[in-house]
Amino acid sequence: MQSTTDRRLRTKLTSINKTIREGRPPFDTAESENVALHRMPILTGSPRRVSEMYKFWFRTRGCTFDRAGQCSMCNYGVGPEIDAKQMARAVRWQIAGVPEGSSIYVSPSGSLLDPREVPRDLLRSVLTAAARRKPVALAFETRPELCGPEIFDELRELVPRTTRVVVEMGVESWTPEIRMMCHLKPSPQSAYERAVALAREYDFDTIANITMGGLGLTHAAAYADTLASVRGARVAGFTTKMVFPLSAKAGSLLGWAHDNGLWEPPSLWMLVRALADLSSPESFGDGISDLDISWYDPDLDGVTQARPDGCAECRPMLVDVLVRFHLDPRIATLRPALDWSRCDCPAQADRMLSASPADALWKDRLAEVADRWDESNGDGDRRLLPLVPSAGH
Ligand code: SF4
Ligand SMILES: [Zn+2]
Repeated sequence: MQSTTDRRLRTKLTSINKTIREGRPPFDTAESENVALHRMPILTGSPRRVSEMYKFWFRTRGCTFDRAGQCSMCNYGVGPEIDAKQMARAVRWQIAGVPEGSSIYVSPSGSLLDPREVPRDLLRSVLTAAARRKPVALAFETRPELCGPEIFDELRELVPRTTRVVVEMGVESWTPEIRMMCHLKPSPQSAYERAVALAREYDFDTIANITMGGLGLTHAAAYADTLASVRGARVAGFTTKMVFPLSAKAGSLLGWAHDNGLWEPPSLWMLVRALADLSSPESFGDGISDLDISWYDPDLDGVTQARPDGCAECRPMLVDVLVRFHLDPRIATLRPALDWSRCDCPAQADRMLSASPADALWKDRLAEVADRWDESNGDGDRRLLPLVPSAGH
């Protein structure tokens, strides 16, 4: 149960987040493509194997939860209402070109299963088009509250039995209070537990997106939270635990906090350390761990203004190790980083990660963010930057 003070603080932060979000320029429908396609290698199946993933993003009015200011780190796109028929045609046309037997990921600007964002007829059209390609895996992201027997029945009916359905959910933190206050995400623990149990009944795979570096957390607290969250999601039964080190993005509360000296991204060394700590022998079923990673090497493109990093000497090695870990998530893949001694960054990371009494004061730091907003009376001078579609949670 939240205290009144916590409730007030969360309401305040959510309203700041909404105000920041309102400043994001919407998709320019005259220029924006309705559908974007990216190809990337991924691991799917059990045992996990490398396959080619075709990731489709299609324009929607935007994430319903984002509209409500409910995720402090998200800068997903916003746009006007869509013409569902036109969008269905555009997606069908693009998906028709995917080779049979690939993996397909369908991504709107938030939750695929949210009928407020993706009308059901459009969803059916997209799923039918994807099913025709007989993909080895069909993945999408959704909030856990939107998973239910009715929609899962429909998925089962539309998608071939040979396709692994993969349901990805933004857990962010397995500690409900941190999820609620630092990430501003109100999804209750029971919603995740129910969604995972239901997915298992339908023999669907699940991915828990877990962040590193929530607003208000010190580096040491963020690190401990990521470890605890991966372990909690493991116990809850998520198939894959995907760790996302956070960046400062324009149009998000986290980005604003960074601009005002109130938040720093975690370092790539923290990520490497966490992956090593979490790659314990019990996580190795078929020789490959249940971990994955994302967002570890975003471009500094004006939207992402600060990212998880190392120094000029160690960064290329770290990125190379992490790229390889994405497809071969074993402790042996991390070895070049774990044995690295050519700069002071690993020692700095160790110092950053030593526990201190400040780690417990994360609510005070959240209150400081709210106070600073009031003092600066918003961010009216802030340059609003264009948005690009990027993975949400
Ligand atoms: S993280 Fe996901 S649920 Fe949250 S606002 Fe972004 S797209 Fe929506
Ligand atoms: Zn370094």
